[in-house]
Order: sequence, then C-alpha cells, then structure tokens
Amino acid sequence: MLSRVKILGAGIIGLACADELVRRGHRVTLVDPAPGSGASHAAAGMLSPAGELWHGESELFVFGARSAALWPDFAARLDVPLREEGTLLAALDHGDLQQVLRQAELLASHDVTAEQLARDELLALEPGLSDRVVGGARLPDRSVDPRVVVAALRRRLASRVEVVEAAGDLDGLDRRADHDVTIVATGALLPAPFDRLVRPVRGEIVRVRSSDPPRHTIRGWAHGEQVYAVPRTARAGVAEVVVGATSEEHNGPPVATVGGVSRLLDSARRLIPGLDRAEFAEAIARDRPGTPDNLPLVGATDLEGVILAAGHFRHGVLLAPLTAQLVADQVESGHVEPALDPRRFARSDLTSLERTTA
Ligand SMILES: Cc1cc2nc3c(=O)[nH]c(=O)nc-3n(C[C@H](O)[C@H](O)[C@H](O)COP(=O)(O)OP(=O)(O)OC[C@H]3O[C@@H](n4cnc5c(N)ncnc54)[C@H](O)[C@@H]3O)c2cc1C
Repeated sequence: MLSRVKILGAGIIGLACADELVRRGHRVTLVDPAPGSGASHAAAGMLSPAGELWHGESELFVFGARSAALWPDFAARLDVPLREEGTLLAALDHGDLQQVLRQAELLASHDVTAEQLARDELLALEPGLSDRVVGGARLPDRSVDPRVVVAALRRRLASRVEVVEAAGDLDGLDRRADHDVTIVATGALLPAPFDRLVRPVRGEIVRVRSSDPPRHTIRGWAHGEQVYAVPRTARAGVAEVVVGATSEEHNGPPVATVGGVSRLLDSARRLIPGLDRAEFAEAIARDRPGTPDNLPLVGATDLEGVILAAGHFRHGVLLAPLTAQLVADQVESGHVEPALDPRRFARSDLTSLERTTA
C-alpha cells in the first residue's frame, strides 16, 4: 500500500529516506527550516566502517559494512563521484605506531586485513607525508563529498516531493493530519519525547585548498593527537582537503574554537608538511547526534505513525543508503532491525537518561 509520508529534517538521512520512498512510489513531504545545513554540511565524507571501528562497536561495524556495499549504486544513481584511493593510517612516532597496530589488531578480529606498511612503503604511496613518519597501514575504503551528495539529492527530489521550509514538531497537525507516517530525521535535535535519546557531540572541522593535496585519505596519529585529512578531486590543479575533527560532548552552541582549530591544523601540518602552503578556506562546527549506545535509531516508536531515522553519530554519511532502505521497509512491512529499534530504550531508560543528564 502506498503511503503519504512527512519527513522532518532534510539532512543526508532525511533526503536519502525521501529518495528511497519516492522510488518506491510513496508520496513525500519534506519539512526543514534550513535543508542540508546540519551535521551533513560539516561531515568529511569518509565511507569507512574499518577506519572508524572502535572497541565495543562491532554491531555498528556490521551495519557500516552493509551500507558501504550500497554506496556505489547509490552514488551512481545520484551521479556523484566516489574516491576509491583508500585510506592510509600513518604514525609519526613509535607511540603513534602502537595506535596503528592496535587498530590493525582490532580490524583483524573483525576479519578485515589492514595491510601494514613500513616507513618507506608509506612514503612511496604518499610522498607528501612527513619524512619523520615511522610506519602505517592501508585500508581499502572510499570517500565522498557530502555537500555534493546533499545537493544532488535536493536537485533530484525538487520536482518529486513537496518541500516546506519551516520547523516541524510532533504535536497536532504535524503528527497525522494530512499524512499516514511521520519520519523524524532531525539529526542532533530530536523533538520531544525523543529529545533525550540523542546527545550533541561537537565536531570542529577545517577546509583548505591545496595544489599539493594528499593522494589518499590520511588518518594519522601525530604525537598522540588523532587527525585526518580527506582530499577531494582537484579542479584546475587545486583540491579541497578536509581536516578533522574534534569531538566534544557539550551543552553550548556548536562553534569552531581557536583551540580546536589550531590543534587540528598543528597535527595535520606535522603529518603533511605541504599543508603549510594551503589556502585556508573554512572552519565550522556541527553536532554529531550521539545515542546512549552509539547505534542509530531507525524504526517505529511508541507513538503511532512516528518512525525515527536519527542518532547516526559519526557515521551518518556512511549509513545513509542503508537507513533509507530500512526506513522504507519499515513503512511498507513494519520490518525493523532489533539492534537499531528505537524502542530498545524503554521509557524507564528515558527517565534515567533524564536523571543523569539533568
Ligand atoms: C565534523 C564532523 C565530521 C563528520 N564526518 C563524517 C564522516 O566522515 N563520515 C560519516 O559517515 N559521518 C560523518 N559525520 C557524521 C554525519 O555528519 C552525521 O551522522 C550525519 O550528517 C547526520 O545526518 P542527519 O541528516 O541525521 O542530520 P543533519 O545533517 O544534522 O540534518 C538534520 C536536519 O534537520 C533539520 N531540523 C532540525 N530541527 C528540525 C525541525 N524541528 N523540523 C524540521 N527540520 C529540522 C536541520 O535543519 C537539518 O537540516 C561527521 C560529523 C561531523 C560533525
């Protein structure tokens, strides 16, 4: 049965859900006061379940790998280029190298081989790295420019969905009047009663323009400080390089701070000295939508006709195509992945969350 669907939030998640629902024949209205201006506008665009694997996040890794496999078709449909050069993990000193080896071990326990690289092999692959690097590893993953993806989705949807540039909520009219289902995809700002399910985790990130950009995504450790540099494809010999990102749980507005930006640039320049000559383009900050277990919230809720597609934390770009499919499946058949089911947090959990964050 075809549904009339209202989606609150037109970041990469809301837009990807809209695209999938329209493809399946449903009627969609998108509601957002500032489409594409949230975390999706800041994201580096690494599609890297392996590079972002953290201890205790095995389930997230499995969903990330599923979504990574959907990206080539998703990108082709949007006519958006993917970068396929892969990621180099790079260490500046022997303490940093321990971090690379720990990451390689963690990946091996998930059946992913990170090809370990001696110093000379690393420098041969990426001559722009500091000659002080001591070694690293290579991961076969991709990246994409999330701003290009959001723009492509908005263009594709422009004539197929109604767009309302206003804030929506879940009371009264917005909930059920002129539609069958409401999907909440408002990133780090969930409306009540779900607001306690996400916490804002500020990420500061910098964009520079370089005529000598790295060839690969670099995820480095520079004397204990973690930093990444994600190159975009060069135009007229100049490429944007995205340098990120800080991570801080906070209650204030997501602003880029002098301390955060200088730490990122110091670490990036230590690893990739040529960035000294790059043109500074932008420093911004946005909130990542973190959940209590760092897994997204995708599926039906206790409120009839309300589905969540939120809480994608550090992985919303990577997880966009999978989330879109899961949300459309939920609308059509009620199917939900138990690990992502928003109802895994019972009302009692919400109360205790409220207590701990009060
Ligand atoms: C610095 C940084 C780097 C990142 N790098 C990566 C990366 O490399 N790879 C990766 O996979 N992920 C990355 N992420 C995470 C990723 O950006 C997020 O997980 C993803 O953008 C979440 O998308 P979203 O659509 O849920 O939220 P958002 O992009 O935040 O969109 C939410 C939308 O909801 C709208 N909205 C808010 N309130 C309302 C309302 N009441 N009614 C209607 N609309 C509303 C907002 O205007 C906004 O447009 C990064 C995040 C940050 C901050």
